[in-house]
Amino acid sequence: MPELPDLVYLEGALKKGLKNRTITGIEVKEPIIIRNLLGEPIEVIRGKEFSDVRRHGPFLVFEIGQDLRMIVHPMLAGAFSMEKKKGLVTIQMDEDVLTYLDNKKMGKIYFLKKDSESQVPRYLEQGVDIRSTEFTLEKFVSLIGASRRQVRAFLMEQESLSAIGNAYADEVLFDAGIHPKTFCYQLDAEQKQNLYASINKVIQFGIEAVQKTPHELHEKVRGHMLVRNRKNEPCPRCGSMIRRENVLGYDTFFCPRCQPAQRKTFIDWK
Ligand SMILES: [Zn+2]
Repeated sequence: MPELPDLVYLEGALKKGLKNRTITGIEVKEPIIIRNLLGEPIEVIRGKEFSDVRRHGPFLVFEIGQDLRMIVHPMLAGAFSMEKKKGLVTIQMDEDVLTYLDNKKMGKIYFLKKDSESQVPRYLEQGVDIRSTEFTLEKFVSLIGASRRQVRAFLMEQESLSAIGNAYADEVLFDAGIHPKTFCYQLDAEQKQNLYASINKVIQFGIEAVQKTPHELHEKVRGHMLVRNRKNEPCPRCGSMIRRENVLGYDTFFCPRCQPAQRKTFIDWK
């Protein structure tokens, strides 16, 4: 899954590769992932230029000409390539291509007119972008203070924080030394402050790692991760075995020693 650091990298690489390039054709091999909200065939993008590429939470927004948009929600397995590959959708620019790959076919590509983003599910419902200046400690404390959820679920709730995925949720909680099943209201002020610092630190570290690791556009960079997908490997901090558990339906990796279960601070009536 492309996570925020992957998307930051993609945004830069795709902007560089696509900006001011004229679209000469589009080939859709898998119509199931396309949502055409244009009211006319998607071939209208032909002859127009990519004018910009930007990220909005977990979405990549391709501005086409003055008033057309292609918005991609890659979900779990969506990826891009500018090499000639077999993909689900290919956009041609003379001899060059942009290909969308997705072996789970869960991602979606929306074609729409500018200012009709409200038709894209979850697009306008994104919470504070954790890379923006609006993501302050005060904002974070107020959001987490209002949540009745487990902290890992809260981190991944895009209506609050936009956007932390499965892999970085594990890395952030490891950095902060917080057990993934801890409820938000069990965290004290210092833990909330640590968690806020860990989000910024881990995401920034991820962005730099993705940037400096040579890789193809469609590949995900995960080698810098300390606990994610490292079941039964020694914790880099204490040497205990990294554990994998299912937390609310998600595969979760953590160190049982560095991230001890939080002692209950109130009576659980259940
Ligand atoms: Zn440990």
